Amino acid sequence: MKYRPLGNTGLTVSAVGYGALGSPTSTPELIQLAVEGGITYFDTARKYKGSEMKIGMALKGLDRGKLILSSKSQARAPAPFLDEFSESMKLLGTEYLDILFTHDVSTPENWKQIRDSGVIDAMRQLKLQGRIRHLGCSTHDSAVGREIIESGSFEVVMLAYNAANPELEDTLIPLAKDRGLGVIGMKPLGGGVLTDQRSRELGFEVSAAEALRFALSNPGIDSVIPGLDTAEYVQTALNALHGHTPITPEERRELLGRVTIRGRNYCRGCGYCQPCPEGVAIVEILKLYNRWEIYNRADWAQMHLIRTEFARTVPMANGPEVCIKCNACTVKCPYNLPIPELMEASKEMR
Ligand code: SF4
Ligand code: SF4
Repeated sequence: MKYRPLGNTGLTVSAVGYGALGSPTSTPELIQLAVEGGITYFDTARKYKGSEMKIGMALKGLDRGKLILSSKSQARAPAPFLDEFSESMKLLGTEYLDILFTHDVSTPENWKQIRDSGVIDAMRQLKLQGRIRHLGCSTHDSAVGREIIESGSFEVVMLAYNAANPELEDTLIPLAKDRGLGVIGMKPLGGGVLTDQRSRELGFEVSAAEALRFALSNPGIDSVIPGLDTAEYVQTALNALHGHTPITPEERRELLGRVTIRGRNYCRGCGYCQPCPEGVAIVEILKLYNRWEIYNRADWAQMHLIRTEFARTVPMANGPEVCIKCNACTVKCPYNLPIPELMEASKEMR
């Protein structure tokens, strides 16, 4: 259970990998702690500021052959894609990547660009040259994900899977497995939403350990990659890696029941919708609005606190008031959240 084959790639990965999305507060020391504890899979991206350099520093001097390393590019044409790849290799200080992902291919337009622009051919060339070992694609959208998997162009797929998004276990995960793809589960903590402090206070939180256990219990997932940006999270990941026991049907029912209280329109804080051309602070607003919805207008003391924080952190110039409903953000949200509607609703916090 600790180490699983990654689809038909021939690679073996630690069932819990190191997600570097939280790398602004991650450090080479944390990465080393993870290596020493037995994590062998490390995932980063060109987009995660500073992350490739930190991983490169941490992995210096280690046996590269024992580690599985992936990065991602969000470029949608061959030339910038290859430029980003070269930059990733330089910062990571490696001769090859085990997996190179096309990053966040989550709209039909994105998929068309990747499929038709020559990016996949460029990736195949890199594989022939021995500079990457396998082609991967990450997506947040079910319909696009199906096309990506069925295209046969990729050997590994990265999907958002957690107790708030369990639907994929009946759709894309078995589809990918049937076709021999490796499946990486990203956002096992729901982008932090599942384990948020306010939920804990209200008594329906999910601990990071529970969230990892849920994701690891799906045999279709080869590795889950929580963002590990504190020593406590690294330790939780190592405990999950070494002490995993599958979740029972009763525990699963209870956990899903707790999570659904949040409703479906919660923002995961990924930031892909930004920047807003009008300057709306979408992520900050929705972070507070998540809490507002959780309290469901029932706890006036807490709602007063949220109002105060909203007034302090979101000035009118960056508030929902300046949203012109242009939908430039909506098309970028991998979860298809109706952001203009949420902006309208979040005015209630003022
Ligand atoms: S819909 Fe509103 S929040 Fe979204 S990009 Fe347009 S102005 Fe900004
Ligand atoms: S609105 Fe969507 S894209 Fe923006 S931060 Fe939230 S989940 Fe991410």
